[in-house]
Amino acid sequence: MLKYLYAHLFVVDPKRELELEKLSYQDVYEFIQQIKRFTKEKQQTLSLSGSFQERAIWRIDTSSSMELYQIGNQLSLHYFGRPCKIPIEWDKSVKDAAGSFIFERTYQKPIKIVQSLWQYNQFGAQHVIATLKHELAHYHLCLQNKPFADGTPEFVAECKRIGAPLFAVKMLEGFQTYCSECGRKADILKKARKKDKSPCCKAALVCKEYVIRLPDGRLVQVEV
Ligand SMILES: [Zn+2]
Ligand SMILES: [Zn+2]
Repeated sequence: MLKYLYAHLFVVDPKRELELEKLSYQDVYEFIQQIKRFTKEKQQTLSLSGSFQERAIWRIDTSSSMELYQIGNQLSLHYFGRPCKIPIEWDKSVKDAAGSFIFERTYQKPIKIVQSLWQYNQFGAQHVIATLKHELAHYHLCLQNKPFADGTPEFVAECKRIGAPLFAVKMLEGFQTYCSECGRKADILKKARKKDKSPCCKAALVCKEYVIRLPDGRLVQVEV
């Protein structure tokens, strides 16, 4: 569900974003139908044109990292005017981050960009593209010997300039849980199991509102 909703928000009708808080499941399913039609139409028109359009990428080959690299390199040329000279690879083990920029710590030299395969399977190509833009911002700032860590003003400015998420966090959906003792917010879970305890009081968890966490960290409440 998230994959389609995400694509919808960012591609089909970006202005609808503001209404997210009021979404019901029914609305979401209608969105899914809409995005499916939209995708079909897009794919038909795109097979006719050869130019690079990031919004039009819906599938990325995962049997090798070749297509992933090509997309990353095109984004690099498009947004930074320079090719990406480090490998961009699928990573089968990373689940808790959408992607990461790996560099040599002593000399601050770029090594490679990795992209979580699991996140692609969960959330689709547009999520990968957003993540690649984020990682490329790290890469290009690093090359220019500028501060490139998450949250530095330079990095935030670059992300804003190219429309990349500020954090390459994974998306989540589930119930917002609360500590049954003190009421403090705890993890977002599909459902609370007996063995899950709150970090604050080591007490049982209570499931409340159903939420979706978007890649920018924003939480959106959805009616179930
Ligand atoms: Zn980052
Ligand atoms: Zn507590």
